[in-house]
Amino acid sequence: PTPELAARYRADFPILNLKVNDKPLVYLDNAASSQMPQSVIDRLIRYQTTQHANIHRAVHYLSEIATREYETARRTLQHFINAREDREIIFTSGTTDAINLVMHGYGRKFIQSGDEIILTNLEHHSNIVPWQMLAEEKGATIRVVPINDAGELLVDEYEKLFNPRTRFVALTHVSNALGTINPIKNMIAFAHQQGVPVLIDGAQAAPHMKVDVQDLDCDFYAFSGHKLCGPTGIGILYGKAKLLESMQPFKGGGDMIVSVTFEKTTYNTIPYKFEAGTPPIAAAIGFGAAIEYLSKIGLDAIAAYEHELLNYATEQIITIPGVHIIGNTRTKVAVLSFIIDGVHPHDVGTLLNQEGIAVRTGHHCAQPIMQRFKIPATSRASFAFYNTKAEVDTLVEGIHSIQKVFS
Ligand code: PMP
Repeated sequence: PTPELAARYRADFPILNLKVNDKPLVYLDNAASSQMPQSVIDRLIRYQTTQHANIHRAVHYLSEIATREYETARRTLQHFINAREDREIIFTSGTTDAINLVMHGYGRKFIQSGDEIILTNLEHHSNIVPWQMLAEEKGATIRVVPINDAGELLVDEYEKLFNPRTRFVALTHVSNALGTINPIKNMIAFAHQQGVPVLIDGAQAAPHMKVDVQDLDCDFYAFSGHKLCGPTGIGILYGKAKLLESMQPFKGGGDMIVSVTFEKTTYNTIPYKFEAGTPPIAAAIGFGAAIEYLSKIGLDAIAAYEHELLNYATEQIITIPGVHIIGNTRTKVAVLSFIIDGVHPHDVGTLLNQEGIAVRTGHHCAQPIMQRFKIPATSRASFAFYNTKAEVDTLVEGIHSIQKVFS
């Protein structure tokens, strides 16, 4: 049996003591944003009360401290994903911003008319729309890896999509809508055999499993702080140093230059070349604190505990007549996307909220998945290590009472 992580760590999260509609909050919307432990809240307060100034510019006391703490957070992120060098970590405002950075910095420079970009049917809109914008601008073509009824990528079909015009692969590590974990290591290796670089959207993977970018050998890896118990407005792009150096900047401004005249600007080295303007310093330091917190618990322990929660929830929900889990694969993180016959997911969300239960309902910014399953939307319960089996029971009771209301 895995250790009861919730019993040990739940008390670290003050927001979980809230009552919603006079019921104890049951927070099952962790795939959208996870909650913040007191240590991260305290870190933000300490920064704001004793360390705040702008970074990289002045020689005064506070600026030096703020710079040191910001760069320490970068190294915390580097070690978290086992990147070779800290300059391979670029602070962005989130996953969306990181993917757009690669689209502008790499895509607009290296992808031409007639080239092809491979995406998958499991992508979040933020890993579709930027590539469509690029394809439209350049006259390039998007190719899509299909999925089966369990929500798994058809890897054979992926391999068949490659041809001499394939220039880029952008692929999610874990589906936000279904939870599917994709076999990205093999898919990256296959793309590399064809000389094609790969961007991994790690927004839903980094919170739930150990990620080692050197072992994966991905070219880019992106994720957001707010899904890892950190603040909003911060995320990272990991990129191999050589690739980052070959790219053009995404945004122009202060800090990303070595020298500027009206005739010519010389760009700074990486990572600063991609961090124009004053970055979200407080959020980056808070993100570092969140990563330290999660690393102390251990991502392997988190993965094992959440898997147990998932199995416990799946076993109960799958046996309820009239309830269907969408994407019921064995290789998934603790996400349950489901539909109840005869009840619109929006009503499911509203009625669960009356019981204090927070789930997400809708298309989860992944409309192509909904189209694939010919449904407008699902209800999605997504778990974190601070959720309990008792909360799963509350969700199951909630589903039963919704069915009663609609029967
Ligand atoms: N990709 C995936 C798989 C996601 O789940 C999300 C967030 N829902 C994003 C990208 C976008 O992340 P953000 O909104 O933090 O930029």
